[in-house]
Amino acid sequence: MDTKEDNQDIQMLKEELWIRRTTSQDGTPIVLLRQEHLKIREEGIQEQIKKIQTREQEVTRQLEKKDRQSWEENKIVYINGKIYVPRNRQLRDEILSNNHNPPDVGHPGQHRIMELIKRNYWWPGIHNDVQKYAQGCQECQQNKVQHIKKVAPLYLLSTPKTPWEEISIDVIGPLPRLEDKNAILVVVD
Ligand SMILES: [Zn+2]
Repeated sequence: MDTKEDNQDIQMLKEELWIRRTTSQDGTPIVLLRQEHLKIREEGIQEQIKKIQTREQEVTRQLEKKDRQSWEENKIVYINGKIYVPRNRQLRDEILSNNHNPPDVGHPGQHRIMELIKRNYWWPGIHNDVQKYAQGCQECQQNKVQHIKKVAPLYLLSTPKTPWEEISIDVIGPLPRLEDKNAILVVVD
């Protein structure tokens, strides 16, 4: 097993498991550091959001409804309770990458990315952006290629027209030894 495959195994661990493991290895401080790091990161994103005060039509319309589902507070717009991320490629990309690229998030598929982002954020066309991001990730593409290579291709055998036209020979074994023999030779015509 090479190191790449090792990483894949780690990536398959759920968030909760990852946190538990860091706790048992190094104690609470690491978990706190991680939580602190995430908090600082989210605060940074929200600071950027406050600085961009442009709003898409769809957002303005939602706000005009004044239906308690959407509101503005401290320069941040909430749509259905989620923070609206203004139209800014860099900012939206940062949120996408935060919820896909880190080792403990582990390059999940688009549904999982969506689930993670929607805990806090929303923007018009978010589904499309998430889909494009997941499909465009280089690392995911490379992993896919590796998975395909691992599976030996299956060939359909064509039906021979006459006996002995095609012969296949296969050795089954090693089997438990019996009278000094440990394999079976299978010949199919
Ligand atoms: Zn990926």
